[in-house]
Amino acid sequence: MALTFNDGPSPETLKILEILQKHQVVGTFFCLGANLREYPEIAKRVVQAGNAIGNHTWHHYSHNVTEKTASDEIDNTGVHIYRSSGAKSFLFRPPGGRLNNGLAAYAQKKNYVVLMWSIDPKDFLQRPAAAIANSVLSQATSGAIVLLHDGGGNRQQTVEALSAIIPKLKQQGYRFVTVPQLLEMQATQKQGIADRKSP
Ligand SMILES: [Zn+2]
Repeated sequence: MALTFNDGPSPETLKILEILQKHQVVGTFFCLGANLREYPEIAKRVVQAGNAIGNHTWHHYSHNVTEKTASDEIDNTGVHIYRSSGAKSFLFRPPGGRLNNGLAAYAQKKNYVVLMWSIDPKDFLQRPAAAIANSVLSQATSGAIVLLHDGGGNRQQTVEALSAIIPKLKQQGYRFVTVPQLLEMQATQKQGIADRKSP
C-alpha cells in the first residue's frame, strides 16, 4: 500500500514524518510550490527520510486554466521540488482530483504520471482520528493508494489515525511503499503475468 500526503510541506509535515519514521515506513508527498518556497528545508527532510515527492501545482487552482498557467503552475513547482530536495519528480496529483481543467493534461504532456488514489478517508475535514482510521482499515487492499493531507490546517487527527493504521495493517501483512516503488512492483507483476502467458 502507498500512503500519500497532499498540500504540504508545512510544519504539520514534521509530525507526519515523525510517525512514519517511528514505524519505519515511507510515504509519498505531493507538494505545493508555494509551500516549497516557504518550507524548503521540510521538503529536504521528506526526501532524506526515504519518502517520495510529487508535484501538486503551485496554487492548487480548481478552475480551468490556460496552457500558459498550467505550465507556470507545474513547471515552477517542479523547479522548487528540485531546488529544495534535489529530487526530480515525475509524479503529478491534480488539485481536488480534477482531471479536466487543463492541469492534468499539461502534466501528461510533460510526461508526468498523473496519480489519483483508491482510498479517501476525508482527513482534510478534520474528522475524528478513529473515523479516518476506520475508513482506511475497512477499505485496505493490496496496491491501495491512500489520500491523506500534511498541509491545509491542523493535521493532528491524521497523525493520530496513522498511529493506529500503520501497526494494524502491518499485523495484517501489508507493507508500505512509495508510489514509485508501487508502480515498479505493479509493472514487474504485469511482466510476470505476461511471461507466464507467453509460450
Ligand atoms: Zn490538494
